[in-house]
Amino acid sequence: MKYVIVIPDGCADDPQVSLGGKTPLQAANRPAMNAAAKMGMVGLSNNVPASLTPASDVATLSLFGYDPLVVYTGRAPLETVAMGIKLNPGDWAIRCNLVNVVDGVMKDFTAGHIANEDGKELINTLQEKLGGEVKSPSGKVLGVLEFHAGVSYRNILVYRSKEPAPFAKETKGQPPHDIPDKAVAPYLPSGPGCELLKEIMQKSQALFLDHKVNKKRIAEGHKPATQCWLWGMGVSPVLKKFADVHHVNGAIISAVDLVRGVGMLLGWNRIDVPTATGYLDTDYAAKGRYAIEAIKNHDLVCVHVEAPDEASHEGRVDAKIEALEQIDRHIVAPLMAVLPSYKDWRILISPDHRTPVQTRAHSHGAVPFVIAGTGILANGQETYDEVAAAASAVLFAKGHDLMKVFLQ
Ligand SMILES: [Zn+2]
Repeated sequence: MKYVIVIPDGCADDPQVSLGGKTPLQAANRPAMNAAAKMGMVGLSNNVPASLTPASDVATLSLFGYDPLVVYTGRAPLETVAMGIKLNPGDWAIRCNLVNVVDGVMKDFTAGHIANEDGKELINTLQEKLGGEVKSPSGKVLGVLEFHAGVSYRNILVYRSKEPAPFAKETKGQPPHDIPDKAVAPYLPSGPGCELLKEIMQKSQALFLDHKVNKKRIAEGHKPATQCWLWGMGVSPVLKKFADVHHVNGAIISAVDLVRGVGMLLGWNRIDVPTATGYLDTDYAAKGRYAIEAIKNHDLVCVHVEAPDEASHEGRVDAKIEALEQIDRHIVAPLMAVLPSYKDWRILISPDHRTPVQTRAHSHGAVPFVIAGTGILANGQETYDEVAAAASAVLFAKGHDLMKVFLQ
């Protein structure tokens, strides 16, 4: 059996007045997704338990069949896997966004989708000025701080513990993408060890204020990175390999370190598409071609596309519809055309979580999914969207149960 998973990140949404009451998914021209719906099972799946923050980390773990309430330790440790950073027992990974905060308000969690070179230079400054040993008042070395440049605004701070780390499960940080245009003061890190994190964030403001990268960015009409924002902290998670659980090998195609990292942690091969961007300008057709190539020598291939989520974060309904249409035309349609050449095959299309364009933030709630292919009976829905999924009788209250049905 060949299995394909397509994840249009954050595609699930609400009806829009501007679309005559349709959701962006309903408004998108999506013949391939609808063909899967007609022949397969459409339903709702809840990937984010109420006690956890809705985001791709928790939600993709559920989608891939793992209970996040059992295995999830934080977002940053998942990203470090894809970045090639090894965490030892006791080490903590912390997400270090480069953000644009103006007058105490989160104006842009991406610092204008800062270019990799600009981001790297700012992270190097943080390493030079704030990295290295953390000492107690008596001079004892407690740990070591390492800043690692990632892709664009997505960077990582590692706390290497020499003594037990100051952080705990109760240490919380706020995802900056969920507080657009909000005052940041109530959302600073809290819990054990938060003072160290707040101190780093505060010191970064002074270091970035007259930084030459920011002067250049302002001169070029780009937003400056006004500070780093620390969140998503955790220790390395322990997961059973996907192949050990399901006896199926896999590959992950994604431009986002977080999703790549989750796939790699499951033991899937990471396949990089050089022209994929993790943004609205990504090379959809190349992703489709790479998936078709990858399924030749893997049992399961997962293609993740970040673009619909990014469109929602920018509050752009038209861009979201455009992204969904591109996914349908260049990824789902070619896969649906090729898969029947394998005797037994199945496809699963599902976002990880909801990202309504109105709130521009991730939200809790069930998302529509469709599974189609060999041995899957049609359950009477004609289209793939939120309304058809809600009209079906199928609901996975625990999203991680869906993977068993998909693979059995
Ligand atoms: Zn998002």
